[in-house]
Amino acid sequence: MQELKKEVQAEIAGKKGSVYTLQFDDLKAWLQEAGEPSFRADQIFYWLYDKRVEQFDEMTNLSKALRERLSSTFSITPLKEVAKQESVDGTVKLLFELEDGNTIETVVMKHGYGNSVCVTSQVGCRLGCTFCASTLGGLKRNLEAGEITAQVLASQRALDEKGERVSSVVVMGIGEPFDNYKELIGFLKVINHDKGLNIGARHITVSTSGVVPKIYDFADEKLQINFAVSLHAPTTEIRSRLMPVNRAWPLDKLMESIKYYQETTNRRVTFEYGLFGGVNDQVEHAKQLAELIKGLKCHVNLIPVNHVPERDYVRTKREDIFAFEKTLKEAGVNVTIRREQGHDIDAACGQLRANEGKKK
Ligand code: SAH
Repeated sequence: MQELKKEVQAEIAGKKGSVYTLQFDDLKAWLQEAGEPSFRADQIFYWLYDKRVEQFDEMTNLSKALRERLSSTFSITPLKEVAKQESVDGTVKLLFELEDGNTIETVVMKHGYGNSVCVTSQVGCRLGCTFCASTLGGLKRNLEAGEITAQVLASQRALDEKGERVSSVVVMGIGEPFDNYKELIGFLKVINHDKGLNIGARHITVSTSGVVPKIYDFADEKLQINFAVSLHAPTTEIRSRLMPVNRAWPLDKLMESIKYYQETTNRRVTFEYGLFGGVNDQVEHAKQLAELIKGLKCHVNLIPVNHVPERDYVRTKREDIFAFEKTLKEAGVNVTIRREQGHDIDAACGQLRANEGKKK
């Protein structure tokens, strides 16, 4: 048979689905159809998520025929590390190239309790938040579930060298996870599965900018996963200025969906509130915010704005940050100021990717 041209082979390879996208039960069903016993699914998940092999050929307790069949159907999504920045505080930012040449960022943060990995959910973002670097080039494409999982695995492989484990995962990298809902849920189920990465639901956090219909769906999934909303404003006028998503789903609709989430799951919600100098960072805003979230079981995480050169927001003065926090505390709100990490590297969402893109 004539050898296929390299490009054609690559194109076919590029069309193979990521094996990490497969749910355990889907793999079992696939194996059944291939005439294999279902315990092979346990073996394959063991190789993928415990041994973290990068070739089907390394799965030595499978027959050669099965290994070939697997590798002609699936890809063990390779992530090529193209840049790495390490902060003095231990934060590591990784830039990966996907099979199609697009790049994504993953951040590994070191905390007292372990390592948390911040994953990207889309190549770019179409939500257009006016302060965010991730949205600068628009949305290129959605990530497949397995491409999100591959980021956790790549981070774990890097930690393997130090004998450490990924202890928590946050979906707070580039992209809007609820704009890629199906793949997000697939990803969450695989990393949470006891035969997969076995990361406890309570150690996983998903953050949305406020894609309201998906908040209802997420509530109905009844997962024990932590849920965060990028609120950033106490009134719909201010929010629309910062976040175009608020024009599609205004603040009152967003709050209604969050109430539904809480009634359905009885879980606490985290509100991320970026402090943007002169926009939303005054005591009057803190009072409005306290009023807005009254009655909800929640926590507010104040984020002093990260400077993004393309965006001209200014940082809130130190004393204003503390005054904002104090006002919330006095109103009985649970509040913390986000500990900043990776300040000496391109820490803000999407910055490393944006900056590497500029170099090219
Ligand atoms: N799209 C999702 C996931 C991203 S999470 C969401 O919006 O929730 C990343 C968090 O960092 C969000 O709260 C986002 O609003 C915030 N963020 C983005 N750029 C920032 C900046 N320059 N300064 C401070 N916070 C920023």
